[in-house]
Amino acid sequence: MSLLVQKFGGTSVGTVEKIEQVADKVARFRRDGHGLVVVVSAMAGETNRLIGLAHEVQDQPLPREMDVLVSTGEQVSTALLAMALNKRGVKAKSYNGSQVRILTDDAHTKARIRDIDDARLHADIEAGYVLVVAGFQGVDEHGNITTLGRGGSDTTAVALAAALKADECQIYTDVDGVYTTDPRMVDGAKRLDTITFEEMLEMASMGSKVLQIRAVEFAGKYSVPLRVLHSFEDGPGTLIRLEEESDMENPTIAGIAFNRDEAKITVLGVPDTPGVAYRILGPVGEANIEVDVIVQNVSEDGSTDFTFTVHRSEMDRAEAIIRQVAGELGARQVTADNKIAKISLVGVGMRSHAGVASQMFKTLSEVGINIQMISTSEIKISVIIDEKFIELAVRSLHSAFGLDQESSASAEVS
Ligand code: ADP
Ligand code: ASP
Ligand code: MG
Repeated sequence: MSLLVQKFGGTSVGTVEKIEQVADKVARFRRDGHGLVVVVSAMAGETNRLIGLAHEVQDQPLPREMDVLVSTGEQVSTALLAMALNKRGVKAKSYNGSQVRILTDDAHTKARIRDIDDARLHADIEAGYVLVVAGFQGVDEHGNITTLGRGGSDTTAVALAAALKADECQIYTDVDGVYTTDPRMVDGAKRLDTITFEEMLEMASMGSKVLQIRAVEFAGKYSVPLRVLHSFEDGPGTLIRLEEESDMENPTIAGIAFNRDEAKITVLGVPDTPGVAYRILGPVGEANIEVDVIVQNVSEDGSTDFTFTVHRSEMDRAEAIIRQVAGELGARQVTADNKIAKISLVGVGMRSHAGVASQMFKTLSEVGINIQMISTSEIKISVIIDEKFIELAVRSLHSAFGLDQESSASAEVS
């Protein structure tokens, strides 16, 4: 008997009808003899609704109280799914995070899983129960409820699969796999049969929210076989695979990720002397603000411009810090811009193929898009552009790199 961990996302349990459909599916797997742990998200829109309620009461609620509130969404869907399974004659029990004892650190709203107590789960599975576990939540060592960050049910599922040594972790969602880019942005996006962990990690961290980054990290670290599938349509989905095939078989670019999560801050006319980057970014780091892309220009007259990006939600805080520093450094001006987007090409094939960057820059120039910043890693190139060109950029790059459905079909024929 194989043991599967299956996770159903918010839209897949968005209504009672859909919960009934999920129950039908889970019941089929159970009748086929699989051991099953089913992780569910809150019903679609529920987490946002709860966050909205909190903000009606208080501008900046204590993170501890936020976690008590937003964790309730998942508890509702676990109970409803367990009921729907029991109604079908499938023995099922629901558990929230603290009942299982998904132990996390105490970083409320973005906690990390430390340990999962698998004894009770194993006993129930052996007794023939389907376990329905609330995603997104855990408990710290003092018994406080914690949550794992938006999209965190993916991570619950992978962590449970690792703890229980499940045969596969299946992420069921509203698309039938991982695509070359968000299929809601590009009609011609193509489902990938497989993608490497490394590529999936870059795709997720560059903005493809089909899997939470931590879920991919966890799966890589504990070698959990991970697959993304459609909740209500049959198909092979996308397997996230551990090992790379030979570079010959790897397409240069696996996919294109994008996000509108960042803002950029520029300090104009800072002295080009040792220690300036530290004086600018030191206080930003001390304020716990994460910096992503950084660009510093060469200077001819002894002064230079310095630009960096932060998460959009941190722009105001970062700008205030930089205005203070700029005064001390005698900089000419500080500007902040939150109308930017980051587009990233991801592919392990980049390691062995030159010319990806120049092809990317050529494509963007042909459609008149100005590149504001560039950053690269071994298997990724990102550019920062004006947010209003995000669709044009993604679509143009998707075609230029031969990722469109039509072009791949013709490539296969030839
Ligand atoms: P769930 O609620 O099931 O967790 P999410 O909304 O978190 O679902 O993730 C699924 C969504 O991810 C899809 O509807 C799709 O719009 C988006 N997405 C972004 N990038 C990709 C990609 N490369 N492949 C597939 N889906 C993607
Ligand atoms: N319900 C949580 C969210 O919306 C967790 C999840 O769906 O994975 O972020
Ligand atoms: Mg999700």
